[in-house]
Amino acid sequence: MTNSSNIKTRKTLDVIQPYSPGKPIWEVQKELGLDRVIKMASNENPLGPSPKAVKAIQESLADLNRYPDADASVLRQAIAEQYGVAKQQVITTNGADELITLISEAFLEQGDEIIVPSPSFSEYDFGAHIMGAVVKQVPFNEGFQYNVDKLLEAITEKTKIIYICSPNNPTGTYIAKKEMARLLAELKDILVVFDGAYSQFADEEDYTDGLEFVAEGQPVIALQTFSKIYGIAGVRIGFGIASEEIIKSILKVKEPFNVNTLAQIAASAAITDTEHVTASFNANKKGRNFLYKNFERLGLHYTETTANFILVQVGPNGEDIYQQLMAKGIIVRYGKTWGLPEHIRVTIGTDEENEFFIDTLTEILNPLK
Ligand SMILES: *Cc1c(COP(=O)(O)O)cnc(C)c1O
Repeated sequence: MTNSSNIKTRKTLDVIQPYSPGKPIWEVQKELGLDRVIKMASNENPLGPSPKAVKAIQESLADLNRYPDADASVLRQAIAEQYGVAKQQVITTNGADELITLISEAFLEQGDEIIVPSPSFSEYDFGAHIMGAVVKQVPFNEGFQYNVDKLLEAITEKTKIIYICSPNNPTGTYIAKKEMARLLAELKDILVVFDGAYSQFADEEDYTDGLEFVAEGQPVIALQTFSKIYGIAGVRIGFGIASEEIIKSILKVKEPFNVNTLAQIAASAAITDTEHVTASFNANKKGRNFLYKNFERLGLHYTETTANFILVQVGPNGEDIYQQLMAKGIIVRYGKTWGLPEHIRVTIGTDEENEFFIDTLTEILNPLK
C-alpha cells in the first residue's frame, strides 16, 4: 500500500508560491472583533457594482438550470462593438486571471522563458510556473518607470512572452505609447501580453491600452477585466482582444463553460453602464488627490498613480504600520510580497474611507498629536 504522501506531484509545483490575497472583511472583523472594517486592499470599486449589472443578474436568476452560452456570444459581440474589433478577436474568461493561465497553457513549453517587469502582478509567474517555464524578472527604473532597453536585453532564444502591465500593479506607473512602439519594433516571434486591468482609470495623453497595437496586427493580446472600474469582481469575468489567430489558439485550451451565466449577463450590462464608469473614474480622481495631499502633509513619499491604488512608502516600520492599520479595521496590502518592505499599497476608496484611512494613519505616525 502506498501512503498518499508518496504520490508525486509535478516537479514544477515546488516553485509555485500560494497567492496572498487581501484579507476579506469578514475575517478581519471576526479575528479582531471590530464592527467597522474597510477594505482598501484589492483595488475593487468602492462605489459598488454597476447597478445595471445587478439588475440584469436579478432578472436572469430563473434560468440558472441552463448551462451558460459556451461562446458567450452576446457579451463578445458587446465587447467587440465597444472596442471596434471583430467578435472573433475577443475571448472571455473566468476573470482575467484565467486568461493568463490559458495564454500560458497555449504558448509555453517547459523551459520557455517569460519576461516580467518587477514588481508586477503575481499571476504571470503562476502561469509560467504551472507550465514549467522560467520567469525572468526585469526591475523597473528609479520611480518604478518602465525600462524598455532592459526588457530587450533580457530576451533570449527561449523568450516566448513579455508581460506589460500598464498601469502596473502594484506601482501605478505606466508605459508610454512611444516606448511600447519601440519595444514592439524590436521583437520577433514573441507574444506581448498587455495587461490593461486599470486602463479605464488612466487618462494621460501618452497612455495606450494596447488596442491600437492589436489593430496594427502586432503580436499583442490586450487583457481586460470587469473586476475593477466596472465593479463586478465577484462574478469573475475578464477578456482578451488579439488577432483571430492568437484567439483561436487560446480557445483550444478553454473549457466550454468557463464563463458562468451571471457573469456573462452582468458584464453585458456593465459595459453599457457609462454612468457608473464615469462616476467611478471621477470618484477615483478626487480620492487620489485627497490622498496625495495628505501623504505630502505627512511627509510620505508616494508614486504617482494612473490607477485606483497608490503605492506609498511609509518607512522602515512598514510592517508595523500595516498591522496597526489592520488592528484599527483598515485592510491595505503590505509591500513585502513585492520586495518593498517599506511600502504599502492602498486602494483609493470612497471619501469616507479615504478620510478614515488618513485619520488613522496620522494617528499611527504621530501618536502624540
Ligand atoms: C485585478 C487584476 C487583473 C484581473 O483580475 P480578474 O479579477 O481575474 O479579472 C489582471 N491584472 C491585474 C494587474 C490586476 O490587478
